[in-house]
Amino acid sequence: MPVKTKRTKNKAKARRAYGVIPDSRWRRFPGKYLLVNDFGNFKYLKPLEFDKWLKSKLPEKSKIFESLAEKGFIRTRMNFDNLSARWRSANSYLFGGAGLHILVMTLRCNHTCVYCQSSAVDSSKKNTDMSFKTAKASVDFAFKSPNPSITIEFQGGEPLLNWDVLKKTVIYARSVEKKLKKGLILALVSNFSLMTEEKARFLMEHEVSICTSLDGPKSIHDKNRMFRKASSYDVTIKWLKYFNARHDRQNENYRIFKPSALLTVSKNSLASGEKIVDEYVKQGLEDIFIRPLAPIGYAKKYWDIIGYSADDFISFYRKALNHIVRLNAKKVIREKTAMMILDKVLNAHDPGYLDMRCPCGASIGQLAYNHNGDLYTCDEGRMIGWSGDEIFKTGNVFKDTYLSVMGSPVTKSCVLSSNLEQQPLCFRCAYKPFCGVCPVYNYETQQNLWGNMPSNERCKLFMGIFDAIFELLAKPKEAAILRKWVQKTVES
Ligand code: SF4
Ligand code: SF4
Repeated sequence: MPVKTKRTKNKAKARRAYGVIPDSRWRRFPGKYLLVNDFGNFKYLKPLEFDKWLKSKLPEKSKIFESLAEKGFIRTRMNFDNLSARWRSANSYLFGGAGLHILVMTLRCNHTCVYCQSSAVDSSKKNTDMSFKTAKASVDFAFKSPNPSITIEFQGGEPLLNWDVLKKTVIYARSVEKKLKKGLILALVSNFSLMTEEKARFLMEHEVSICTSLDGPKSIHDKNRMFRKASSYDVTIKWLKYFNARHDRQNENYRIFKPSALLTVSKNSLASGEKIVDEYVKQGLEDIFIRPLAPIGYAKKYWDIIGYSADDFISFYRKALNHIVRLNAKKVIREKTAMMILDKVLNAHDPGYLDMRCPCGASIGQLAYNHNGDLYTCDEGRMIGWSGDEIFKTGNVFKDTYLSVMGSPVTKSCVLSSNLEQQPLCFRCAYKPFCGVCPVYNYETQQNLWGNMPSNERCKLFMGIFDAIFELLAKPKEAAILRKWVQKTVES
């Protein structure tokens, strides 16, 4: 039995008297403390205020006490109606179903990107194309989700290499949407190398949103994303401009989406954060999604050449984010990871970032459909399958039902292992209400689904991103810019 010293007795007494919520968490910044609770509310306190709060000595009539009470940091003044409504809004995904359905139209690709995570195979090997029969069964499977609005994302390899099936699948999915009267978003992820006017028109007419990769200026992009037939950068920019121009003109018959681009940070990018952001601005893009590389699949094999530490990424991210915030004095340019975190923090809203949920989105938020109809928890889980380990396979569209996939041991294991209540470090972490762990990453890097957060590079990396964002939120001028970003998200 632990010995009760005078100090521990006093501490317990102070907590009882004061009413500190046991699940309040805090993090120390220079000159201040950040206080966070499970309702997703936060408050900065000066060291003296923090000390008084902890010892239950804040005067009850002070502004700071009132503010803490309103946010759910004072046990004797909890407004459970407001607080539970906030919690429910932030965690609304728990009451939905799988919203994202990734159809791998082919494993073939004509690019040889240095970090390729999609485990692509040579563009001549057609036996990895999805047939229309499988695509149709995948669409039917996706519509079994109870989620009132689903997204079907066409991926690869390069999905345009299987254009005829892709086209028929788009038409079929739109027909099912009409029949079932369910919300449907269609999205295509493409390197644009096989885009033509005819394909572009078809995609716009069927309201398919378009996403590509842009890794920065030509010198960096072409070094990361190698394409033997031409400069991948030139092709990407040509079609980005095309879709941007169509989006600006719009059309009264159908909605044309603004094209979006992803930045995958490789070792080649680390020294050029500001230049990369400037390239996005130059191309008229208003959002940049800065994504770290993960040592999964192909990237794991070549990690020594293309990978980097969490510290390297954080330093890149901080420089890029600060540059983006400065640019906002003159133009709109936002960073998507920050936007998704801010949406959670400021709006108590789930932005659909499946890797930052508790539990994570494996199966319960998304499913990956391989070219042969095999189902995986997520695209990352599919990549592990590609290397011969089927631990994240949940079934097959021809053999299994939506319910059996959701109740499968694989799904249950991912849900359990990504529950932050059961992660000792996360449980005490100030960022727990906004964060998430990844069983696939843990399995690949630490050989078990739970992982070990104190030595987990992904945890370190996200902690660095959260620190960068909360440091900016503590500065009035910068905070005003960040708040605007998410106001715009909610409006749009
Ligand atoms: S296992 Fe990882 S990649 Fe898959 S959904 Fe969960 S967090 Fe995302
Ligand atoms: S993964 Fe790391 S940053 Fe995220 S909640 Fe857990 S300890 Fe905190």
